[in-house]
Amino acid sequence: MNLERKLTALTKKMYDKTIRQCTDAEVYHCVLQLTKELLADKPVIEGGKKVYYISMEFLIGKLLSNNLINLGIYDEMKALLAKKGKSLAAVEEAEPEPSLGNGGLGRLAACFLDSIATLGLPGDGIGLNYHFGLFKQVFQKHQQMAEKNPWIEKDSWLNETGIEFEVAFGDGKVTSVLYDMDVVGYGQDRNKLHLFDLKTVDERLVKKGINFDKTAFEKNLTLFLYPDDSDEAGNLLRVYQEYFMVSNAAQLIIRELKEKGVDLYKMDEHAVIQINDTHPTMVIPELIRILTWEEDFTMEDAIHVVSRTCAYTNHTILAEALEKWPLAYIEKVVPQLVPIIKELNARVKKQYKDPKVQIIDGNKRVHMAHIDIHYGFSVNGVAAIHTDILKETELAHFYRLYPEKFNNKTNGITFRRWLLSCNSELADLLTGTIGDGYKKDANELERLLEKIDDRNVLDAIDAIKKQKKAELAAYIEEKEGVCLNPDSVFDIQIKRLHEYKRQQMNALYIIHKYLEIKAGKKPVRPISFIFGAKAAPAYVIARDIIHLLLVLSDIINNDPDVSPYMTLVMVENYNVSYAEKLIPACDISEQISLASKEASGTGNMKFMLNGAVTLGTSDGANVEIHELVGDDNIYIFGKDSDTVIGHYAKADYVSRDYYENSEVIREAVDFIVSKPVMKLGNRENLLRLYNELLNKDWFMTLLDLEEYIEVKDRMLADFEDREKWKRMMLVNIAKAGFFSSDRTIAEYNADIWHLG
Ligand SMILES: *Cc1c(COP(=O)(O)O)cnc(C)c1O
Repeated sequence: MNLERKLTALTKKMYDKTIRQCTDAEVYHCVLQLTKELLADKPVIEGGKKVYYISMEFLIGKLLSNNLINLGIYDEMKALLAKKGKSLAAVEEAEPEPSLGNGGLGRLAACFLDSIATLGLPGDGIGLNYHFGLFKQVFQKHQQMAEKNPWIEKDSWLNETGIEFEVAFGDGKVTSVLYDMDVVGYGQDRNKLHLFDLKTVDERLVKKGINFDKTAFEKNLTLFLYPDDSDEAGNLLRVYQEYFMVSNAAQLIIRELKEKGVDLYKMDEHAVIQINDTHPTMVIPELIRILTWEEDFTMEDAIHVVSRTCAYTNHTILAEALEKWPLAYIEKVVPQLVPIIKELNARVKKQYKDPKVQIIDGNKRVHMAHIDIHYGFSVNGVAAIHTDILKETELAHFYRLYPEKFNNKTNGITFRRWLLSCNSELADLLTGTIGDGYKKDANELERLLEKIDDRNVLDAIDAIKKQKKAELAAYIEEKEGVCLNPDSVFDIQIKRLHEYKRQQMNALYIIHKYLEIKAGKKPVRPISFIFGAKAAPAYVIARDIIHLLLVLSDIINNDPDVSPYMTLVMVENYNVSYAEKLIPACDISEQISLASKEASGTGNMKFMLNGAVTLGTSDGANVEIHELVGDDNIYIFGKDSDTVIGHYAKADYVSRDYYENSEVIREAVDFIVSKPVMKLGNRENLLRLYNELLNKDWFMTLLDLEEYIEVKDRMLADFEDREKWKRMMLVNIAKAGFFSSDRTIAEYNADIWHLG
């Protein structure tokens, strides 16, 4: 294969130019075209049984580098472009990022597709092709504003398939069209991501910001992804979207099974459907409907085979995030599913008296997770502590009925994107130090531990961190207009904005530091506090927290007494591409959720892999990181999940008591409504946040604040013991192998899917 010849032919054909004459964007489009051709040449992974990973979100990020890496031509392409005076990094800037996910759940789905293909397993993703994705975040007057985020260009990674289905709603029929993206494994063949779109979608519906006519579902269904993370808007349109997705999914799966000549009574031997959170739950009644209405199955037989085909992943214990649709919604959107759901409910009722396990509750709301648990064969949590909480607390009444269905699958991340692509310097150092076996078997990273006393390796890791910090500082200066000192400590919290993740606790620490500096107590080394987060536009307190952070950054960065010692920046429109720049540059990884609330987290894993040290609570996968690296290589603080769950059970947490009993807490909280903040900021936002913290604080910010300050200060002091810190970086990298999504997917396959 001659890349140069092919690319030269393409630039000639598409733009009548040489590679050198093309702009970066033109080169991007030619490389896109070439890469798509190479992908299409790869055989599709086949097997007797295939997994369908159905998800409302696939936060895939940019695909160029990843596809080049997995095709094994990244270095060759980079060298070729360099020879022609182009940089692959600059070319990649021309690629739009599809924002088809909110955060962790969607990114997980994308990592899983990469790993399924890399393990050579037959498995496709099924989701929706949102034209404007999640909203694009812009800051104006210290406030988050939302704009549409178009990403589909004339040429993109999408391929037309010609496949169309009809989807019937209570008030009319629509036609869907299917687009596919190729998903190539690392050195492997390919699977597909199927993204369904609405044939009659009308982008002109969106006038200003992200507002559009919510009633015209035949035109609007695939315009936007719902901007909620861990809380549901309860909007009718979301039910339309969900049914649109699962109806298409069910039709596609049955079509593929028939093409293979499969006897649908043995569907479970040829297909497994992984339901990513409750959003795709209606695929269960929809399949039962199709089998009974169109394939002449008895209800008994249909329920039997569908129940053996579907498996459910739970991602949260936040009550507000567990979908409970009013039956009236389903009656309006998909009346044809109502008799089936009622039948499923009746069967449960007959067998179990416990009202907690019914599908339809006394308020006529349909508990989607309950459908999944009764009528699926597997229920998994996403980190050890999360699965334990499901079994012991949140889903205990179900665990008693079906102990054999429950299992844990600790999340993972693809090392192709989160190491090889975003930190090739570190990847190369690892290859030079322990060989490149770790690229196929992440556990081999442990061999790095043999170098714990090797001065050259420790210094090289540190030098790469310095380089990545300098690169990030340059990028942030260009994008945000904020100048970061590359010699400062980079303390980073990037994740969706949610009270349970407790960005507000970090903000209170920052206020505390600011007040200390004002009082003359200066840190030995400057600190750069970096945030990235989108808030759901309807989540008022989350937007208030963004407002506070933006006002604080204005105050801090413009105060000459303070800015030499600390800087605060909140980057605009945090997304996968930004994460790829931020994570390699991090010293302190902020993972400070209220214990029991973060099911797993995957950001924590990405940071560790790139040599950051975690400052975290005993929550989600932090617990497993702690076990792996040991007490000496992580900073754990805060009340544990049992204590927190106890506070909720007894309703005995009173934030005002913490405020009144601690001067440090009082000073930090009061600063939110102090003169300088109120002068720059918006009274309503700040007062609301202040009152929320004092009078409600549902996610217990003040519970852990004092210990957080203490442990973070100790961590900053330890940063000055450079030799100790370098060893901590090395241990974190060496122990990250467990968090490869290749391991996670191998476990899904061994315990749930049994593909082959
Ligand atoms: C990994 C990732 C997340 C998830 O981060 P958490 O800290 O686990 O919540 C969210 N958004 C993006 C863009 C990511 O890459």
